[in-house]
Amino acid sequence: MQSALIPFARAQTIELPSLGDAAGDDLSPANERRLGEAIMREARRDPSFMLDPDATEYLNTLGFKLVAASPARFTDFGFFFIRDPMMNAFALPGGFIGVHSGLVLTAQSESELAAVLAHEIGHVSQRHIARMIAKQRDSGLIAIGALLLAILASRSGSSSSGQATEAAIAVGQAAAIQQQLNFSREAEREADRVGFQTLTDAGFDVTAMATFFGRLQQGSRIYESAAPAYLRTHPLTVERISDIQTRVREVKARPRPDSLDFQFTRARLRVLQDESVQGLQDSLAYFMGQLKNRTTPSEAASYYGAALASLRLNQAAAAFDLAQNARRQTHAASAMLDKLVSEARFAAAKTDAERTEAVRMAREATARFPISRLTAMHYADLLQRSGQHEQAATFLREQIALPRSDPQYFELLARSYAALDRKTQQHQATAEMYLLMGSLPAAIDQLQSARKFADADFYVMSEVDARLRQLMQTLREQRAEQAKSGRARPPDEEKK
Ligand SMILES: [Zn+2]
Repeated sequence: MQSALIPFARAQTIELPSLGDAAGDDLSPANERRLGEAIMREARRDPSFMLDPDATEYLNTLGFKLVAASPARFTDFGFFFIRDPMMNAFALPGGFIGVHSGLVLTAQSESELAAVLAHEIGHVSQRHIARMIAKQRDSGLIAIGALLLAILASRSGSSSSGQATEAAIAVGQAAAIQQQLNFSREAEREADRVGFQTLTDAGFDVTAMATFFGRLQQGSRIYESAAPAYLRTHPLTVERISDIQTRVREVKARPRPDSLDFQFTRARLRVLQDESVQGLQDSLAYFMGQLKNRTTPSEAASYYGAALASLRLNQAAAAFDLAQNARRQTHAASAMLDKLVSEARFAAAKTDAERTEAVRMAREATARFPISRLTAMHYADLLQRSGQHEQAATFLREQIALPRSDPQYFELLARSYAALDRKTQQHQATAEMYLLMGSLPAAIDQLQSARKFADADFYVMSEVDARLRQLMQTLREQRAEQAKSGRARPPDEEKK
């Protein structure tokens, strides 16, 4: 029962922003974003939330290609993976779109994955979530936050083995609750229509939308229990299917080859789906079998998957060989592949010269992909692991691929300052990390430590002072606001 109760207990403590009270008004995009960010802070702690930077970068690259072609008026989107074999995708408030790893593994082409994303982006661009929340505002926002979290939590429950009963309870609760959250039929058809246009404009094969939904319709036979999750959140009606089929008939099929990174991501997710020793060995055998029997859709991807599985099994020398084989299969540029080669080179290195070579490969990858978060993080990581903290700190301050809104950026920076024994800067960077993770008191704490150590120059010390004053002011304002909204809350809300 515990896993079913925790999400609710957790949801009660979530700090949801106050969203204004004019009943019937749509939620403003800024407020919707704040709500989405609050939910995401919780979601990131969920064990099923995939922090894998490689797969996440691929998904965001694909997602933003579609966003650029969509009528979305704001560009604040974020795409993330949930480790779950069930085929599903969902949109949260604020443009956060989650995709189950199982969806990528069962999609037959990149266009199919794009079709699902385009549909979710359609829900966001047409502000379906904001409207639904505005409609339900009377029933209390905490309830909506709790519902969304319960749904996320039930997903993780469904994928963990040995907890079938608890998972079933959690899913049951979430499903019952979700009835209130489902989009209307009109919203579904609108998301299809807008998504279809987006898919066309972004140059994907639009027939994929029909084939994907067609297969979903026969879902229970093909995917057994995998299909219903998507159908529950996006009811597939006869009208929807015939709408899509009509649209597809009106356009010319434009077959589009899958990108190399799509193939790599599929291979990667297959490996990450089960990281037990047995699971990794199974994945390794699976990819080697594909290569041996020539049944692979992409030799480079099979080598990539085998190399990754070997690396996770601590078979570094084999991993490096396999990664180089993957590289030999293709001339196409891929940050994912470059990173894997350098990662395996570093893991397999026995001499300083070999380690230096791995770091050089990582640096070259950042030059080839200057806006790739993945290559920037990997290079900083190898610099740190080879003890080059001064270079790591300099690189981190100068690079452009890791946005300053990324907590991990400050985490990396703090790690190098710690190694260099620069305490003020270490705590200063940690403060920014906590702030971005939504913990204002912890950030203030860190800044106070930064001030106490005072081992930085005058410029840094005044930066710390100014930031501390600013955050103290924000904390006072927040407390005042909370006190006010606490008084304004109707009495029946307080009992919960
Ligand atoms: Zn939908």
